[in-house]
Amino acid sequence: MPEEIPLLPAGFFSEIVHSGVTDIARSVARALFGDDIPHDELARIVTDALNFEIPLVRVEEGLYALELFHGPTFAFKDVGARFMARMLSYFVQQQGQEGVTVLVATSGDTGSAVANGFLGVEGIRVFVLYPSGKVSDIQEAQFTTLGRNIVAVEIDGTFDDCQALVKSAFMDEELNRQLNLTSANSINVARFLPQSFYYFHAFAQLARLGISREVIISVPSGNLGNLTAGLFAKRMGLPIKRFIAANNRNDVFWEYLQSGRYLPRPSVQTIANAMDVGSPSNFDRILDLYSYSHEAISSDISGYRFSDGEIESVIKRVHKESGYLLDPHGACAYLALKESKRAGETGIFLATAHPAKFKESVERCIGEEIEIPEGLAAFMKKNRETIQLPSDFGSFRKALINLS
Ligand SMILES: *Cc1c(COP(=O)(O)O)cnc(C)c1O
Repeated sequence: MPEEIPLLPAGFFSEIVHSGVTDIARSVARALFGDDIPHDELARIVTDALNFEIPLVRVEEGLYALELFHGPTFAFKDVGARFMARMLSYFVQQQGQEGVTVLVATSGDTGSAVANGFLGVEGIRVFVLYPSGKVSDIQEAQFTTLGRNIVAVEIDGTFDDCQALVKSAFMDEELNRQLNLTSANSINVARFLPQSFYYFHAFAQLARLGISREVIISVPSGNLGNLTAGLFAKRMGLPIKRFIAANNRNDVFWEYLQSGRYLPRPSVQTIANAMDVGSPSNFDRILDLYSYSHEAISSDISGYRFSDGEIESVIKRVHKESGYLLDPHGACAYLALKESKRAGETGIFLATAHPAKFKESVERCIGEEIEIPEGLAAFMKKNRETIQLPSDFGSFRKALINLS
């Protein structure tokens, strides 16, 4: 947690309606990180990290999608990963560090966002560990085709094995000293906080349409990083009436909201697989933000959970009725918003991934083929390179040293 969460000045909110995404993000970043880095450097980092559109699209009366998937890997994690990469690069240069090694374990989307965020960043080398045969074809293409400072490591094991290898590496003091290890998961503040920028931007876009009261926002949730960033935005003064946490069948947070009981458990596989998390790593941040009050948390956040069947049928129905194509994660958030929204409220749901990233599932729902955007198709045409390793730490350690 940051030591303090700054309140943004009233002037910022009265101007927000005239401001573009980079101006908004610069002001928010300055309030959050302004003591640690010169303002012009920070402004440059923000501009560079957010160089793609984040449109608010009307889906139906009173209900909008905030499309967070127009970045290089077609999912919202690009925002945090690109910002973090540029921040880290700045500090590495400032401190004249020789070389820094980023380790990231991925079940798919995190690896592609982090790898693309760090691609070509000087002085930093990234190892992406992924479970062999358990990430989708498109996801694999997004981190195995990059080369340069990005190394893809295919582990003969599960995602948990990859995560365990990364944890063992962080515990190995000698390895840490030798390689300057750093993590790139949403537990890292520089990756998770920038996600607050687009909540302000969404609000500004609604305000331009004359809507600035009774706004509620629905967030498809797994590790709860995205939702927590929204709660930070609210704490910084953004007038959001209520948040909605949308879960798939991995519903530990939903259960906590209902009952006050928090029972982490192993995840189960669903169609919205980037939300298949059984022990969300940002849950403690939410507790801390609300001083451990279940009452305060459940009055700011309502929870919903959906089965694969419900997700599939809403993708089909919305496509048929309005022509809007949801991905399975956005679909969860849309459905939660539909159930939660009362008369007089305006709702935004976060569309976190491009539907083409989940091509097979989405096509099965709507019964027709969908087009793959050019940027996504480009990954598929390139040569893939990976280093294959068994899941024991000794082999991984040796490979890390040899490759660095
Ligand atoms: C990571 C991810 C989520 C879940 O976000 P959290 O911050 O982990 O709650 C939702 N949708 C997509 C497409 C993702 O990649």
